[in-house]
Parts: sequence; structure tokens; C-alpha cells
Amino acid sequence: MTDNGPLKGSCFCEAVAYELSVPLSEIVSRGCFCNCRTCQKLFGDRSFDVALQLSDFKVTKGSPSSFSDTQTASGKAMIRYFCSDCGSSIYTTSDARPGRVWVKVGTLDRASEFRPDSEIYVDSGIPSISLEQDLTKSIKHYKGMDKEVHY
Ligand SMILES: [Zn+2]
Ligand SMILES: [Zn+2]
Repeated sequence: MTDNGPLKGSCFCEAVAYELSVPLSEIVSRGCFCNCRTCQKLFGDRSFDVALQLSDFKVTKGSPSSFSDTQTASGKAMIRYFCSDCGSSIYTTSDARPGRVWVKVGTLDRASEFRPDSEIYVDSGIPSISLEQDLTKSIKHYKGMDKEVHY
């Protein structure tokens, strides 16, 4: 596969679709597993997200529903977007980090090419899920915000 053309994604039923204007090569190795209880409740398992500039993300079809999640570490809301037809979680924004978006890697057309570089909230991970061996790990999000936070 080449790096040409916008990266695209959609929910399961394809009622909602989106495009990214950032090259695959810039983000393909920057996935983050999150093992927090919120992700377990929302997604049934850890989540796998990639963080982008919000300006590099555009919904091109449909209009996702959302809800405001205030059970966050910062206390500031995360807005979680999903398809109201099929229920797929698609992306998240955060009042604590304006201008960022966290896209659910599984909704990207080229999801299988993505790799994680980190894993967070490892202390609440479901034990039966083997945690990745060589990733930057944190029991919460990144210390000092010196690296892009994925939540
Ligand atoms: Zn859908
Ligand atoms: Zn989480």
C-alpha cells in the first residue's frame, strides 16, 4: 500500500465516515492502548486509539451522536462520538486538550497497519489480556504531559 490519498474510516454500518489529512506514516506507529475502567465499560475491553490534531480530522458522511463523559482523570469532559445507528465508537475529543482528537484505530480502513507505542492505565487492565511487552507503560496517563496524551 502507498501513502497516497487521504486515510479514511467509518463506523461498522458506514452511516458515518471520516477522512484524515495527516499521512499514514506519521501516525501508523503511534497507537495507544488504554486499559482504564471507562474503556472497559464503553468498549468491553481496552481501547486502541491514535491521537491527531483535530484540524486533520473531518467527518465526511453522516453525523455522529455524542455524549459528555465527565468521569475523567482531569475532571474535564471527554466528548465521545459514536454512530447512533450501529453503536460504533468512532472518536473522542477532550475539553482538557482542545484541538486534539483520539480516533478509534479499529474504525480506520487501514487499521491492521497500525502499531502501538504505548499503553496506559495498566493497573486496571483485565488480567486475561496479555499486556504488550515493549511499550511505554503508565499506570495513568503520561507524566508531565511531555508526550502527547492519548487518555
Ligand atoms: Zn454506524
Ligand atoms: Zn481508557
